[in-house]
Amino acid sequence: MSSAPAPQSVIDLRSDTVTRPTPAMRRAMAEAEVGDDVYAEDPTVNRLQSRAAEIFGREAALFFPSGTMANLTAIKTWTHHGTEVICEAQAHIYLYEMAGISAIAGCMPNIVPAPGGVLTWDLIEPLIRPHIYYRAQTALIELENTHNMHGGTVYPPEIANDVCERAHAAGLPVHLDGARIFNASVALGRSVADLTRKFDSVMFCLSKGLGAPVGSMLVGSRDFIDKARITRKLLGGGMRQAGVLAAAGLIALEETPKILHCDHENARHLAEGLARIPGISIDPKKVVTNILIFDVQSTGRTAADLCGELAKKNVLCSPTGKFSIRMVTHYDVDRAAIDRALSLIGSALQR
Ligand SMILES: *Cc1c(COP(=O)(O)O)cnc(C)c1O
Repeated sequence: MSSAPAPQSVIDLRSDTVTRPTPAMRRAMAEAEVGDDVYAEDPTVNRLQSRAAEIFGREAALFFPSGTMANLTAIKTWTHHGTEVICEAQAHIYLYEMAGISAIAGCMPNIVPAPGGVLTWDLIEPLIRPHIYYRAQTALIELENTHNMHGGTVYPPEIANDVCERAHAAGLPVHLDGARIFNASVALGRSVADLTRKFDSVMFCLSKGLGAPVGSMLVGSRDFIDKARITRKLLGGGMRQAGVLAAAGLIALEETPKILHCDHENARHLAEGLARIPGISIDPKKVVTNILIFDVQSTGRTAADLCGELAKKNVLCSPTGKFSIRMVTHYDVDRAAIDRALSLIGSALQR
């Protein structure tokens, strides 16, 4: 499965968001049956929402224009102005969502760094505020699986389940930023329903490795999704004939999970190749999904400098720190392109 037309010469490893819709998605978009989704009358959106709910074993699901809006909607639905949200120190909701958690939901993020981005209960528990009238109250715990800025790491299911159980015992809901939960599912060989069943709400992206041009989903109980629908409208996310987008989303949801393992194999292959290049530091065994973050300090070059030079050779990647670079594999970069990227990176560092 690959999309057309692709500029073959560019190897774009900046993100899996750059995937273009497949010919099958484009056909489905052209032929989609549509209606006004603000009236809940778009049959294709309704089909996508029921299918997502079914796949996750939940009562309901809701289609969003972005993961950022879906996460913010979940946060705003579970919290109240002046409450706190516990999340990992490099969580996407904390670093890359325009501080919407504070600017719009009115919440304080209460963060803690976790090895591999995997928050355990012993890290979370001390952050829960005591019930004293002058303390802001904890309203929500948020986990991220796979963890983007920790290099696509996967939550061990027992840890995620343990956090959910203990949070519930403490009276707190848990939201999952599962932008790439299908990658976690493929890496572990467990269904997304199984991995997420204890969470109160789950966000996942259709527009990342699954390849849809636009869209993310929120899944949860009927009651939660009814409330989220109102919040989505408040945020300007009520769309009209959105079936043209949902049509591509349905194909992304049904078809792409079957081939995500290729992205993981390519990421591991890329990591093994990078590890052989002098000056680059990465442990290929830690690359379990489609994201790699590696260190280039020993090359004597900064990440920005190296990314800039690689861009001139048509290999695109992102600096994530002064000496760290992120690469993300996806279905528009095949094994031959990975090998080409490796040789171009090797030659860039030889001089
Ligand atoms: C991409 C991403 C999101 C949502 O991003 P949008 O670009 O708004 O769709 C949320 N969380 C994580 C971990 C992500 O990688």
